Amino acid sequence: MAKQDYYETLGISKGASAQEIKKAYRKMAVKYHPDKNPDDKEAEEKFKAAAEAYEVLSDENKKARYDQYGHAAFEGGAGGGFGGGGMNMDDIFSQFGDIFGGAFGGGGFGGGARQRRAKGSNLRIRISLTLEEIANGVEKKIKVKRKVQAPGTTYKTCTTCNGSGQVTRVTNTILGRMQTAAPCNVCGGSGQQIDKKAPDADAQGLKVTEETVSVKIPAGVVDGMQLKVSGKGNDAPGNGIPGDLLVAIQEEDHPNLKREGDNLHFDLYISFSDAVLGTSKEIDTVSGKVRIKLDAGIQSGKILRLRGKGIPSINGYGKGDLLVHVNVWTPQELSKEQKEFFKTMQDDDHFAPDPKDHDKSFFDKVKDMFS
Ligand SMILES: [Zn+2]
Repeated sequence: MAKQDYYETLGISKGASAQEIKKAYRKMAVKYHPDKNPDDKEAEEKFKAAAEAYEVLSDENKKARYDQYGHAAFEGGAGGGFGGGGMNMDDIFSQFGDIFGGAFGGGGFGGGARQRRAKGSNLRIRISLTLEEIANGVEKKIKVKRKVQAPGTTYKTCTTCNGSGQVTRVTNTILGRMQTAAPCNVCGGSGQQIDKKAPDADAQGLKVTEETVSVKIPAGVVDGMQLKVSGKGNDAPGNGIPGDLLVAIQEEDHPNLKREGDNLHFDLYISFSDAVLGTSKEIDTVSGKVRIKLDAGIQSGKILRLRGKGIPSINGYGKGDLLVHVNVWTPQELSKEQKEFFKTMQDDDHFAPDPKDHDKSFFDKVKDMFS
């Protein structure tokens, strides 16, 4: 089932400006707000989908990645980013502050006061991957220092907001005069404050621990891409929700292969006699060894294309190719006898270059004995 395009979700075109994106989202959020559509599953889905689309398109970096890779830009990673379960309501309502100037901080639309839960801060790490790991996908276990709730710390209901997490006020908004709620400053909106603090806890009741986190990296990731592992950032105090672990991908240089998009390039050196007589060579690819046949008379500069031996597309559509560049190695240190041997060839007109059209063709058919 294909996920709807974010631009379509918001009913805007791809070239929409930041202002248009914001306006379109505001319209959707008002129309499908859960308080206006109680028990309407479809409206709730649309509300969430619009929030998710806005979350991406309102962020310059995320938008750029989405424009380039589509939904695949946010898939993978243990938590699946928003690709998997979508945003939760807390994320959505915490986003409202930017859109409506704080007017909808919490249970804006009058009815059911919605508790805004504080979110822990995100952690950022960088993972360095080999080309083989990128080509095949990999699961990495990473040690992360994250703040967790210190056992022994207890919380009590915030005395300022009586646990609601919000303070109410009457405001004029784009939708008219309404009773709105802003997060409580004392408890940060969590509705709780520390009662007893564990001896090793910081002011928020948290302490640093080292935890091993498993990060699933899908095949085809690109240097600079960022994956999100939900809930593996720092804990929030009280009943808040933990932040996320943001994993930046770094691609290591490969000793023999060069990556260009999903294609790989390999420089193959063959001897003068191999070029004349033909030979077969075993080459390393990101998915194991492959033996290729080189026809007698192959020219230096020829490129052999091994289909599907490149990097899988991050979007899941097929794989790139491995392009083998044939280079004929010219011997450099020769004995007197060897020089005589080549002198004979030099004097023979048969060895003079005489390129035909088929020798000049840039891509040659590959003879891949294994596939
Ligand atoms: Zn409070």
